[in-house]
Amino acid sequence: MLEQKISLSSIPFCRPFVVGKELEYIRQTIENMHLSGDGSFTKKCHALLEQTLGVQKALLTTSCTDALEMAALLLDIQPGDEVIVPSFTFVSTINSFVLRGAHPIFIDIRPDTLNLDETQLEKLITPRTKAIIPVHYAGVGCEMEAILKIAQRHGVAVIEDNAHGLFAKYDGKYLGTFGCLAVQSFHDTKNFICGEGGALLINDPQYIERAEIIREKGTNRSRFFRGLVDKYTWVDVGSSYLSSDMLAAFLYAQLEAREQIQSKRRQVWEYYYKHLQDWAQEHGIRLPIVPAHCEQAYHMFYLLMPSLEERQALISHLKAEGISSAFHYLPLHISQMGRGFGGKERDCMVTEDISDRLLRLPFYNDLTEIDQERVVASIKEFHSFSSVNLDYIPKAHVVR
Ligand SMILES: *Cc1c(COP(=O)(O)O)cnc(C)c1O
Repeated sequence: MLEQKISLSSIPFCRPFVVGKELEYIRQTIENMHLSGDGSFTKKCHALLEQTLGVQKALLTTSCTDALEMAALLLDIQPGDEVIVPSFTFVSTINSFVLRGAHPIFIDIRPDTLNLDETQLEKLITPRTKAIIPVHYAGVGCEMEAILKIAQRHGVAVIEDNAHGLFAKYDGKYLGTFGCLAVQSFHDTKNFICGEGGALLINDPQYIERAEIIREKGTNRSRFFRGLVDKYTWVDVGSSYLSSDMLAAFLYAQLEAREQIQSKRRQVWEYYYKHLQDWAQEHGIRLPIVPAHCEQAYHMFYLLMPSLEERQALISHLKAEGISSAFHYLPLHISQMGRGFGGKERDCMVTEDISDRLLRLPFYNDLTEIDQERVVASIKEFHSFSSVNLDYIPKAHVVR
């Protein structure tokens, strides 16, 4: 068993969770003498993802960022191509495309789910638009039906950034199965982890062969191992995007325990919701909204505070109680890079507003009810909305 340190005095914001079989599986990779990529555990992870989700092909990668880079290469993104992306997301969602010379077109989010606002999509499409990247924020599905309809009408590819939403559903269908490509993250901060890791999910079979080549340094090594060619050679551009089988072994233990993990996360989410509902209503604070046609992934729990000042004051109040909470993405369109692409204030008003007011509560698989009780009690103690200390606005920014 891996040790999990328990601190009684402080409640962290996030903590990696170990299901128990990870070390045993890693030991097996050592016994197999196969530590590099595409060993037996990588294959098991691929099969599990393909069969459970119903995707044509799953390929483990070294990170979600790398899976996004693969997507940009697969779509042949060229300098000047436009990619539509929510301003309210992690940098990698767009950076991987900017690396290939793409011009980001930032779209605002819906005030309810905080997902890309599909009603603003069509007017942002130009003849140069190559891709739309919906991000399923907090593991709640974007309005995929509308997004796909618009994308199809204009011949634009859809790539789902599903870093938060593995095993969540939209209209009864798994997230990650809607776009021609989708990406997953297995970073420590996500629901299923292996330290650093990701996956590219392929729904359009035309991308499968080239994806395997790009992932294997631009060689046809995968075809060679399947006996389809008698030697392997340089056939395309590519890089090294496959992860060690030791990490796949760790991840396989987690994916096998997906029901256990998701049910623990569901309990955490529901506890917060149940115990904060009345308080939130009384104080004009909004809790997450999950539409009826979405089965969420229980990735996070957030509060939307009435103002930036109150959000910052609550963060410091909780901190004084030994509880770590966190805000989230800073709008990309007015980041240093975003401004370089012409982004300016008021371009994405909902994003700018939400980014100031959103507060994420401690959330991890083995967060105990006793600790959650403490978090909820501390939040309810916080009644000093009028005496907000404006000096306390931390400069450090949490972007994950
Ligand atoms: C975590 C995250 C990523 C990046 O994942 P890595 O595996 O760390 O590269 C990308 N997009 C979103 C929405 C994320 O939350």
